[in-house]
Amino acid sequence: GTRNIAIYGKGGIGKSTTTSNISAALADSGLKVIQIGCDPKSDSTNNLRGGKSIPSVLDAIRSGKKVEIEDIVYEGFGGVLCIEAGGPEPGVGCAGRGIIAAIELLRQKKVFEQYKPDVVLYDVLGDVVCGGFSVPIREGVAEQVYTVTSADFMAVYAANNLFKGIKKYANSGGALFSGIIANSVSLPIHKEIIDDFAAQTGTTIAEYVPRSITITRSELRGQTAVEYDPDSEQAEVYRRLAKAIITNEKKYVPAPLDAEGLKGWAESWSDRLLDKKEEEQTHRSKT
Ligand code: ADP
Ligand code: SF4
Ligand code: MG
Repeated sequence: GTRNIAIYGKGGIGKSTTTSNISAALADSGLKVIQIGCDPKSDSTNNLRGGKSIPSVLDAIRSGKKVEIEDIVYEGFGGVLCIEAGGPEPGVGCAGRGIIAAIELLRQKKVFEQYKPDVVLYDVLGDVVCGGFSVPIREGVAEQVYTVTSADFMAVYAANNLFKGIKKYANSGGALFSGIIANSVSLPIHKEIIDDFAAQTGTTIAEYVPRSITITRSELRGQTAVEYDPDSEQAEVYRRLAKAIITNEKKYVPAPLDAEGLKGWAESWSDRLLDKKEEEQTHRSKT
């Protein structure tokens, strides 16, 4: 059967970079992959297609012409089928209309039946400004949900909100959580912070992805690291992540922190970071 996986996270945190590299790695290993972007930015699949953007499903519908499959489905690296659900305009949510329209159209046109994908990856913004936050979770579109987060508080805050959404719909057939993708981990402290957040919310880490210049270089060529520099360490990390995701059967309800709990957690880290700074200074004054 097909695995339907949604990847959530705050805007700019690295969802599309991560999702495209996973798609590329899975396609490279011989799997049939569909990647569906669900973000008003509509640039989820650009790096699978030489940096070129494609028209979104919502734009195609808005054009008023009869929408054909060729108008909305484009082939990318390794034969990955690329689709952008779209949104109204950057910064405004579409209350789920984009993804609902996209899925309806793909079902109508029998894309899933005919292509028989091994994996469908949904790259979903779904943050607080996004009215349709919970659509892929709620509507039984995806069975497994991951979140991309860095150690930055706003990213952790968005991940915690996602956990609340999953918990809310878990008893009515909603998607369950499968792991945190820790992005931009370049210092031990980043890992410590994300590990602690995972421990506090009863969640697991799927992979640690370092911040890497390889990504910057690949992106400037409109490519994933897997395509642009397959021998790089970063490409290896994404292949490991792709393998972890495709074999991960874990599905559970996370235990989000409430507002007070999250505030307390943040403050405790603020104190710990201050301690570390003082340690460093003491160390420096000794040497
Ligand atoms: P999102 O889809 O969550 O909005 P993107 O995937 O578009 O975020 O990433 C935002 C920016 O951050 C891009 O310029 C991307 O190249 C960069 N980026 C993301 N992850 C990494 C990483 N691990 N190392 C270096 N740059 C990264
Ligand atoms: Fe995607 Fe929902 Fe945001 Fe629309 S509101 S762009 S469907 S996450
Ligand atoms: Mg994106």
